[in-house]
Amino acid sequence: MKITDHIKKANGNTLFSFEIIPPKKGRNIEELYNNINPLMEFKPPFIDVTTSREEYVYIKKEGLLDRKITRMRPGTVGICAAIKHKYDVDTVPHVLCGGFSKEETEYLLVDCHYLGIENVMALRGDAMSHQKYFEAAKGGHQYAKDLVLQIQDLNRGQYLHDVIEVDDTSDFCIGVAGYPEKHIEAPSLQTDLKRLKEKVDAGADYVVTQMFFDNKKYFDFVAAAKAEGIHVPIIPGIKPIAIKRHLQVLPQVFKIDLPEALIKAVEDCKNNSEVRQVGVAWAIEQSKELKKASVPVLHYYSMGKSDNIKHIASEVF
Ligand code: FAD
Repeated sequence: MKITDHIKKANGNTLFSFEIIPPKKGRNIEELYNNINPLMEFKPPFIDVTTSREEYVYIKKEGLLDRKITRMRPGTVGICAAIKHKYDVDTVPHVLCGGFSKEETEYLLVDCHYLGIENVMALRGDAMSHQKYFEAAKGGHQYAKDLVLQIQDLNRGQYLHDVIEVDDTSDFCIGVAGYPEKHIEAPSLQTDLKRLKEKVDAGADYVVTQMFFDNKKYFDFVAAAKAEGIHVPIIPGIKPIAIKRHLQVLPQVFKIDLPEALIKAVEDCKNNSEVRQVGVAWAIEQSKELKKASVPVLHYYSMGKSDNIKHIASEVF
C-alpha cells in the first residue's frame, strides 16, 4: 500500500515508522531482524531502508595498501523484499542519484515493481567523503527532482529506451527529503523550499524531514512549505541522542542546531548511559508534542539500534 494511503486510512491518527540501515557487507541479516523484532509491536505500516554511498576502503595486497571505491552496505532492495515478506509490512527503499546511472536506476525500479514494492524515497545522496561537492555518476542525475521525474515517467510506462510493448506499469508513491533547518548547500531556507516545491511539482507524494531537536523548527517549516504551495504530507524525522559525541557529530554531519537546554543536559551527564536517558526523554517530549499536533507519522532514525526507539514508542504510542 502507498504511504499516502496509509496516512489517509489512519484518519488523523499519528502512525509509527522507522528507518534502518543495511548491515555491512558480509554481516548476517539476523542482526537486522533482531533490531526490527522489538519494534513490530508498534505496528509500523512501513519501514525505510537506506542506501549507502560508495566509500574508499583499503585492502592489503602484497604488503601494500590498495584503495578501492565500494558500497559497504549494499542490498537495500533485497532487504526491503526480505522484510516485506517476513513481517508483511510495506518497505521503502531509498533510491539515490549518487553512484547510479539512469539505466541502473531503471533496473532497480523494475526490480522493486516485480517485488511488489510500492513506495520509494528519491534522494540525491551526499558527496563521497573524498569529494568536495556532489558529482553525478556518468549518465546519472544531478538532483533528486530529476530522479522523481524518471520515476514518474516509469509510472506512465515511459522507459529510457523504447520497449516493444508496455502492458504493466508501476505506480510508485514517491517520498523526498525536506530540511527544516535548510540543506547545507542551499543559500537560504527560502531557496531550499523552492527546490522542495520543484520536487513536489515533479511528482513527489510526501516529504520526510531531516532530524531536528526543536519542534518549532518543524512547525515553522510546515507553515513555510504551505505558504510556498507544498500541500503533501510532511513527516517529521526523529533521532534520539545516544552518546556525548553526538553533540559534535550531529551538527557537523547533518547541519542542524541543538537547543541549549539539550546541550546542557547532555554535558551534565557522567557517562553515555545517562546521555541515552536524556536523549530518550527529549525524544519522548518531542514526539508527544508532535503527536498532539496530529503529524501524519513519527518516523524514527534507528541507526541500527532499536532499544532507544522501543523505549520512546512505548511512551508515545
Ligand atoms: P536535492 O533535493 O537534490 O537537493 C540537494 C541540494 O541541491 C539542496 O541544497 C537543494 O536546495 C539544491 N538544489 C536542488 N535543485 C537544484 C537546482 N535545480 N539548482 C541548484 N540547486 C538545487 N543519503 C544517503 O546517501 N542515503 C540515504 O538513504 C539517505 N536517506 C535520507 C533520508 C532522509 C529523510 C533525509 C532527509 C536525507 C537522507 N539522505 C540520505 C541524505 C541526502 O542524500 C543528503 O541530504 C543530500 O545531500 C541531499 O539529498 P536531497 O535528496 O535532499 O537532494
